[in-house]
Amino acid sequence: MDLNQLKTFLDSQNLPPFRFRQIVKNYFSGRYASFDQMTDLSLDLRAKLSQNFSLLSVSETKTVGDNSVQKSLLKLSDNQSIETVLMDYEDWITACVSSQVGCALNCQFCATGKMGFKRNLTADEIVDQILFWNQKIFPQFVGRIVFMGMGEPFLNWDNLLAALEIINSPDGLNIGARKISISTAGVADKIIEFTNLDTQINLAISLHSVNQKYRESIMPIARQYNLDELKKACLYYVNHTNRQLFFEYALTDKNTSQTDAKLLANFLHSHRLFFLNLIPLNPVDGGLTPATKDQQKLFMNYLNQYGVEYSLRKSFGQSYSAACGQLATETSI
Ligand code: SF4
Repeated sequence: MDLNQLKTFLDSQNLPPFRFRQIVKNYFSGRYASFDQMTDLSLDLRAKLSQNFSLLSVSETKTVGDNSVQKSLLKLSDNQSIETVLMDYEDWITACVSSQVGCALNCQFCATGKMGFKRNLTADEIVDQILFWNQKIFPQFVGRIVFMGMGEPFLNWDNLLAALEIINSPDGLNIGARKISISTAGVADKIIEFTNLDTQINLAISLHSVNQKYRESIMPIARQYNLDELKKACLYYVNHTNRQLFFEYALTDKNTSQTDAKLLANFLHSHRLFFLNLIPLNPVDGGLTPATKDQQKLFMNYLNQYGVEYSLRKSFGQSYSAACGQLATETSI
């Protein structure tokens, strides 16, 4: 919901300022699925609000999943669609949100990339994915956010920042910066701008290869920002923030050789705050071939040999195409 428009509307009705605060509080509580349910407002005001506003800018088309992972297809006001995922494991309920409809970056392992770019999401459309889940799971609530859904968040910069402000604000969703993570395919100049924001929000880089030629072939953005430039931006981040920087590395049959492990070790040893997350690749139609269990094991042995610390992520939601790189509104659900 556009809160500026709401404020203007309430002013035009000559309502006192506390009404605005009351409605905003209701809106962010996740308790209400419609204005009609806000019984602390007069019937007349509820009717007027229903006529003039939609509580959420997204509406549910379909949801699939189980207790640990759910994925929803959401319709936007212009009939475009996005997907959003809820993961309920460990100690916080995590929402994986989209930042764009489709994506222009066309990473070869990603279903969203295959859709092409349609448009940026507004800040409200980003925030409302979280509110959608809060409404659905009330009285539980989302405690952690990852920007790993559809789109490259750093290419929707202004709306991303506006959404983060609402997500983080005590008057908004009040989710602490350390509970928010943004993943970028490596938009180096935005990594520097992000660093300069001086925020506690976590950053992850989709790395997937440190062989420039191979990385270009699976992530076309690597032609615009090569590995040297990316590493420079990453060093700027860790040196200025003193925060860990996470590198995502999806394991394929083409990036798990001993040479790859050695190159990766060199890259990661550039700074003690560089940390590696290995991800078993999720198969996407026409995409890359996941490394076999044996290839994964061997690669991890090489990394151990070269003194690289890493974590191996569990892959969630594969059976619902809800895992990383699998969100695409034209091919799934
Ligand atoms: S992995 Fe991310 S950046 Fe790459 S195409 Fe998919 S959504 Fe875009």
